[in-house]
Amino acid sequence: MICVLSGGTGGAKFVDGLRQIIPAEDITIVVNTGDDLMWWGLYVSPDIDSITYVLSGMLSRERGWGVKGDTFLCLQAMGQLGEPTWFHAGDRDLAVHILRSRLLAEGKTLSEATAVISQKLGVKARILPMSDSRVETRVDTPIGELSFEEYFVQRWYQDPVNSVRFAGVSDAEPADGVLDAITKADAVLIAPSNPVSSIGPILAVPGIRDALCRARGKIAAVSPIVGSAPVAGPAGILMQAQGLPCSIAGVAKAYADFLDILVCDSRDARAAAELRQASLRVECTQTIMRSSEDKVALARTVLALATDTKLSARASGILSGAPADGSQ
Ligand code: GDP
Repeated sequence: MICVLSGGTGGAKFVDGLRQIIPAEDITIVVNTGDDLMWWGLYVSPDIDSITYVLSGMLSRERGWGVKGDTFLCLQAMGQLGEPTWFHAGDRDLAVHILRSRLLAEGKTLSEATAVISQKLGVKARILPMSDSRVETRVDTPIGELSFEEYFVQRWYQDPVNSVRFAGVSDAEPADGVLDAITKADAVLIAPSNPVSSIGPILAVPGIRDALCRARGKIAAVSPIVGSAPVAGPAGILMQAQGLPCSIAGVAKAYADFLDILVCDSRDARAAAELRQASLRVECTQTIMRSSEDKVALARTVLALATDTKLSARASGILSGAPADGSQ
């Protein structure tokens, strides 16, 4: 079994590649829930939705979120009623939020509701929320504390950031199956997700970091930072607010206590060589996922590295850059 830790955008692209090279039944994805929000009275879990949609073939690849071909009639009608419309929930997307909210109101946990929805949408991989307890990512800015979606979607991450915290996390427990999935996996792959707002909340749930340190399989992370900037979004701003440089060194630092292999972009070959001197295994490859082929190629490379089929990855010409151990 391969365990993936993921957010919703870079994470969904990476999972899209992975699902095309190994059976979905062999994949468990532990997903960030720090971005979850109540919207029009409904419980929305943006990252779980994106992962569910990508695995069911429903994700809009153009937008990178929501359901492909979705309409926004309800959004329009809510606007006419004077309700907020900054969070763009599509009509088919709303059906999932309604069902999840009903299942939660009936007493199901978020894991159970996620499993029901996955099964109804034909998802064969296992999607696990990081926790069934409510953990809320809060972004401290000069205008006050914002929820992650307020900061990111409503305000277009334009506010300077003082710090980020995960409200409720000290009392949270990992959802059922999360610790086992991490410790027993053949490999744990950390998607190219935001290290602070997507992977950060997962790592902050008590017990998860420790499970990563005890994991039987190798742990490989793909950097969402290329050069000195994220491929997209506010990862750089948030990393700096948390005292991490916006570079592959910052990503390495965020995962330092458990990381075996950092996979970074070929453009970071020089920074990779410096990191290797700090005795981390760092591999360079093409990490920008534009096409389906890019996604598959990256997933194949990372999987080969983490499951120790390094020679075949190198022999097939997937990897570029000097190997970590100086051998060819
Ligand atoms: P969120 O929940 O929407 O924030 O999604 P994620 O945390 O999963 O993904 C956001 C991160 O993905 C950003 O930091 C981007 O830099 C990164 N990202 C997006 N597309 C790519 C890509 O094609 N390659 C790499 N390496 N990173 C990407």
